[in-house]
Amino acid sequence: MRIDETAELIRKETMIPKTARLLQIPLSQILGTSAEKTPKRDKNWQTQHAEALREPEELLRQLALPTSLLAPAEAASTRFSLRVPDSWVARIKAGNLSDPLLRQILPAAEELESSSDFSTDPVGDRAARVLPGLLHKYQGRVLLMTTGACAIHCRYCFRRHYPYADDNFLTQLPGILDYIRADNSIHEIILSGGDPLSLSNERLTDLIQQIQTITHVKRLRIHTRTPVALPARLDDGLFEVLQAIKLQTIIVIHCNHPNELDEQVLETLSAMQQCGLTLLNQSVLLKGVNDDADILTHLSERLFSAGVLAYYLHQLDKVEGAQHFEVQDARAIALHDALRQRLPGYLLPRLVREQRGAGAKTPLQGVCRNVPSK
Ligand code: SF4
Repeated sequence: MRIDETAELIRKETMIPKTARLLQIPLSQILGTSAEKTPKRDKNWQTQHAEALREPEELLRQLALPTSLLAPAEAASTRFSLRVPDSWVARIKAGNLSDPLLRQILPAAEELESSSDFSTDPVGDRAARVLPGLLHKYQGRVLLMTTGACAIHCRYCFRRHYPYADDNFLTQLPGILDYIRADNSIHEIILSGGDPLSLSNERLTDLIQQIQTITHVKRLRIHTRTPVALPARLDDGLFEVLQAIKLQTIIVIHCNHPNELDEQVLETLSAMQQCGLTLLNQSVLLKGVNDDADILTHLSERLFSAGVLAYYLHQLDKVEGAQHFEVQDARAIALHDALRQRLPGYLLPRLVREQRGAGAKTPLQGVCRNVPSK
């Protein structure tokens, strides 16, 4: 299907949810109840989350990978634990050490190396932490560290060293809400962490309802990797939570490679889009995963087929343990320049870096014309 045909299809399908939303119709009815239309969910998400792989030995066994990887994987996982749901493992090609989805989750020997310009707080979260569980970095919006839990552990995670246990978000919530109430310049609340969709539907409902009582808050943004990492989490109950939100709502997903977008993920994203949610994607540019113009082009187009617009392509945050994922700036700029030649503007993500203390994301500038070889 051509992109303009896809856009038209999405536009037509978007007509459905407005009615469905008004009538509070559950996801299964929006999509139809037939097995071929409803995302396949053999186990509920809580079971899939609880049964996520955490032992490097088991991961190597399931993917037929060399046992020589075990010792470094175990050593690296003591610094940042392994966690990967079965549905993600199923998207990895067994025996392929270069698989882009494997590289994102396999604890590796390189994580044990250190580099002077990589730190445990690469984007200045500690300085922006105005209260435990609350970051106020940018004008007009604040970020709530709702939980430290995630469906998946990404080895390059910029918060892999964040002291979530010190925040105790639940007990801090009354103070956080008081802070937001007292500052009427805050118009947007960002739910982050960790992954806010790791919270139960009941806890999310309670949190969102409390936010909605603050009249100067106009928008709610949810940063989540869960629709991609564990799509079963998007159950009817969660769709009801999302449909009931009265604020303008933006879901920013995190997807780095088109192989992450299997049929279940695409169906889940389409269903979210049909509920009237604005869906954006942010990717991290990762060496050996997606530092390739063909891959990034395909990613933007495939995301759009499910109603998701490419938003940011982030240069790696220099977090300790992720040095081996770094793509040099000149190459990043050249890749982005190549994307600009291939994609319409609305599919081109902004190439940015988050800099400690800066008042906004910093665009990378450049005039490179050729994509260097890898
Ligand atoms: S899902 Fe996000 S917060 Fe969680 S480990 Fe991955 S990058 Fe970090």
